[in-house]
Amino acid sequence: MSVSGRTHVRACPERTCVGCRKRAAKHELLRVAAVEDACVPDPRGTLPGRGAHLHPDPSCLDLAVRRRAFPRAFRLQGALDTAVLRTFVEERAGLTSTP
Ligand SMILES: [Zn+2]
Repeated sequence: MSVSGRTHVRACPERTCVGCRKRAAKHELLRVAAVEDACVPDPRGTLPGRGAHLHPDPSCLDLAVRRRAFPRAFRLQGALDTAVLRTFVEERAGLTSTP
């Protein structure tokens, strides 16, 4: 039946969440970029440099921070400030905003 070697059509790009390490469709994950010593959310994917992908979920952010996943993803040494990113994720998760 199958004659071609083409087995996958990449219609739906996937990325791995740096928190829970599960794969998800790219649009389900939040791109995070490093600006100086801080992790910043990059929902439009416009910031230059390396990006990390994360579920917009505080628990995934916690896991990523605990694993030091961001310095690894950005190939940086030392701690990164995640305060801005945390606020963004919490708002996105509806923890601080009103419905
Ligand atoms: Zn996740």
